[in-house]
This record gives sequence, C-alpha cells and structure tokens, in this order.
Amino acid sequence: AINCEPLKELVRTVPDFPKDGILFYDITTLLKDKAGFAQLIDAFAAYYIGKDIDLVLGIEARGFIFGPALAYRLNAGFVPVRKPKKLPAKTARVSYDLEYGTDALEIHLDAIQPGQRVVIVDDLLATGGTMQATVQLVRQLGGEIAGLGFAIELDFLKGRAKFQEYDVLSLLHYD
Ligand code: IMP
Repeated sequence: AINCEPLKELVRTVPDFPKDGILFYDITTLLKDKAGFAQLIDAFAAYYIGKDIDLVLGIEARGFIFGPALAYRLNAGFVPVRKPKKLPAKTARVSYDLEYGTDALEIHLDAIQPGQRVVIVDDLLATGGTMQATVQLVRQLGGEIAGLGFAIELDFLKGRAKFQEYDVLSLLHYD
C-alpha cells in the first residue's frame, strides 16, 4: 500500500472554523499541490483497482472534488449525493442528525441499478453521520457497498465504529 503519511504536511488546520472551538482540516492546500493531488488519487485507485467497482459516489461538496478523478481511474461512473432540492429528477432522501438540528441527503432513484458495486467517498470521516446517511441511500437503491473511502479520518471521534460491516479506507489519520 502507498504510504500517505507525508501528505499530512499538505493539509492545513484552521482553528475556530466554521465556529469557535472547531479545528477544521482543510484539504484545499493538498489539492492544489500537483504531486500531492496525484498521490491522493493514486492511493485511492491502488486500493480499489481490481475490485470491480461500477460506481463512485461522492458526497456534496468535497466528495465531488476527488470522487470523479477516482471514478475515471477505475473506469467507473460517478454519482453525486446532494443536499436537498438540488437534483432535478426523482430522488430518495435520508435525514440525519447533526449536533444542532438535522440535515438530509438525496440521490437520483435511477442512479444505481440493483447489484451494482459502489464505493462512496468523502473528504473526512468525523462522527460518521454523513456517511451513514449515504450508506442508507445506497441500500435503499439496492447497491452493493464495496467500500467507504475518506481522505482523512479523525480517529478520536470513532466514526469508524458505525461501519463495522464495511471496508473502510482512510488515507490520513489524526488522533
Ligand atoms: P460526520 O458526518 O460527523 O462524519 O462529518 C463529516 C462531514 O463533515 C463530511 O462531509 C466533511 O466534509 C465535514 N467535515 C467535518 N469536519 C470537517 C473538517 O474538519 N474538515 C472538512 N470537512 C469536515
């Protein structure tokens, strides 16, 4: 496997964003680095190549940045999972709890054919609520979840515990 640890130097941490007390992990500084971006996509591709992936699903918004690059490398299709009321055709929707209030995600009903093998990607695994909602959408549509991929995992939040039956790949870990 590719050792991604050096890429952590390219991730910027921003204190008190989006609100006081939150340390935000910003991948834009990694994305703009040509070698860093290539290594990120290469590391994902190396893990999923040969696993018969039909579709890469990206979660709005940062899953849209590298999901398509990975899909291209895997000869897979790309499917956006979006915030409510963005997708034009018929959708499935799942609501999930946030620290304060709820949010929801949608997918086009015809985005996945039953049995298609899907990898879901997002930039960061925190509590896992966002990914869990997306997993529910894929299951509703009959997709087979071949993997859950994150650029960053915040290990101390133990979000991974929500996905014990799945293959979870996180390239960079923070304690
Ligand atoms: P979770 O649902 O608690 O796992 O939060 C993960 C979601 O929140 C992902 O869609 C991330 O993009 C976003 N997120 C949470 N914390 C950060 C961060 O520090 N940097 C970038 N995105 C974050």
